[in-house]
Amino acid sequence: MSKESRRFQVPDALANSYDFANSLDLRHFVHHGVQHPQADELEDAAALGAWMARRKLNEAGKVPSSATFETALALRGAIRDYLERDPADRRRETSIKDALDRAMARFPLRVTSVGKDGLKLAPAGSDAMAGLSAVVAELYNGAANGSLDRLKMCASEECKRVFFDRSKPGTRRWCQSTLCGNRHKTRTYRERLKREREA
Ligand SMILES: [Zn+2]
Repeated sequence: MSKESRRFQVPDALANSYDFANSLDLRHFVHHGVQHPQADELEDAAALGAWMARRKLNEAGKVPSSATFETALALRGAIRDYLERDPADRRRETSIKDALDRAMARFPLRVTSVGKDGLKLAPAGSDAMAGLSAVVAELYNGAANGSLDRLKMCASEECKRVFFDRSKPGTRRWCQSTLCGNRHKTRTYRERLKREREA
């Protein structure tokens, strides 16, 4: 878990997936006159190693192999594409499911007994691939208990940040309604005025 995941009340059981998906920051909206700078926390294998070490998924100072790095980027891309879809579409769209399937296939996992919660999936082994398996295990465990449906991508094209939907009906579309939601409403309103003026 991270400061970000705490701040936005993401359940600890999904915090690594949340952080992993958001390690690519595509936000480029203008807020208070300043454009948000885009960034990639995983710009190379060393950066991936450091990202993992901060979350105790890897030994500090250990740099994952370039193959592991490529696999990690493919996993992140597939997870982001998956989370971009509405929960119902995630189950329907074959290409999205297949891509995630392929990206997850190489991660070593095991079933573990966890007392009152019964059984869950956990990383198997102790290398960098096993460390990244923690993300895959979280997805599976989240799908099993339904919480993964609440991990979503902001509908704003200028944002695409992954957020955890804590609303009661679970129908939130924007990471922050005061920010992305309002920007969307203002734009829709302006476009309507423009159409009306031109009509
Ligand atoms: Zn947003």
